[in-house]
Amino acid sequence: MMRMGVMGGTFDPIHYGHLVTAESAYESFHLDHVQFVPVGTPPHKDEEVLTPARHRLAMTRLAVTNNPHFVASSVEVERPGASYTIDTMRYFHEQYGPDVELFFITGVDAIMEIPNWNNAKGLFELCTFIAATRPGYSVERFQAFLSELTPRRRRKIKTLEVPALAISSTDLRRRVREGRSIKYLVPDLVEHYIADHGLYRKSSN
Ligand code: ATP
Ligand code: MG
Repeated sequence: MMRMGVMGGTFDPIHYGHLVTAESAYESFHLDHVQFVPVGTPPHKDEEVLTPARHRLAMTRLAVTNNPHFVASSVEVERPGASYTIDTMRYFHEQYGPDVELFFITGVDAIMEIPNWNNAKGLFELCTFIAATRPGYSVERFQAFLSELTPRRRRKIKTLEVPALAISSTDLRRRVREGRSIKYLVPDLVEHYIADHGLYRKSSN
């Protein structure tokens, strides 16, 4: 039985918080590999203008190049219309066949949204969730969230302690806009890509 991790996100830009979370999940849950899936068109995040998908995908590819068990996937970027995780998980399920066990990796902030996602019921049937601790997000709120779930759903959410990295893409975008350093917060290749393409220099509003 193959065990595959999927890490979804806007990755605008991808940073060491994402990478260390995926690596911890890989190790703790004995995954065969982790697919990084930049969202194409998010159904929710419309309050903010996203960087074009080709840049977010390119940065994701650069970020995973030197890790043999990390893969960047263009599945959501290439799929027309709003990106729904259920479609992505079904896609991987078909790709890898019935002998694959799917794990969806998220931070504790993102997991609390999942019951509101499109076809949450189907998602809970299709995969196990790995919820990673993240600085700045209350563990108490996460526990309260868990306690409100049905036992069946609760069993499908595994908590993962990751070395705390208080890095967010929001903060990185602000740093670039303000001309501050992002070195040691993102892989060097990502840092150079951002500089070469002049990303995040101007506020989107
Ligand atoms: P933004 O600030 O734009 O929302 P972000 O840093 O939260 O960006 P996302 O692309 O929104 O990054 O997150 C993708 C996934 O990675 C989510 O499940 C999120 O919870 C998780 N994640 C992001 N940063 C961290 C971190 N520092 N530690 C643990 N998990 C993280
Ligand atoms: Mg986020």
